[in-house]
Amino acid sequence: MFFVKSTDTLAVDLPISSKVSSLKNYINGHVPSCSQVLTFQGKVLDDSCTLQDYGVSVDSTIHLSCRLLGGESKKVKRCDLDGCNDKAAKIVGDCRYCSKAYCSRHRLPEAHLCTELKTCKQEKYNLNSSKLMDQKCVASKV
Ligand SMILES: [Zn+2]
Ligand SMILES: [Zn+2]
Repeated sequence: MFFVKSTDTLAVDLPISSKVSSLKNYINGHVPSCSQVLTFQGKVLDDSCTLQDYGVSVDSTIHLSCRLLGGESKKVKRCDLDGCNDKAAKIVGDCRYCSKAYCSRHRLPEAHLCTELKTCKQEKYNLNSSKLMDQKCVASKV
């Protein structure tokens, strides 16, 4: 048994001949949705190596940090609506019609004037978006 320390210390019951990737899988069960960076004695552990390769032994402590906490903004999705810079809402922000991602304000097809919805469900669209269309002087004479 050895230990993984992040905010809490996790006792890990894997053999030290395990690969780093196995350890990450193991940690995932305890620390979900974390982009893991594991370090031991100042070295970043590579997925394809074993713990033994880095000199991890029984009672060693490996340090875990989550990339998400490090201020990396690559993974933050922005709303796909032009002129909106809000974060896209996770899962619920994905439009099932045009498969783009929107923030919580624009996630409904009516709110982002979804082009796919327009073609698939013209009638319903017209009903739901009559208010929105009022603001936009589009020539939509039927
Ligand atoms: Zn938005
Ligand atoms: Zn859409």
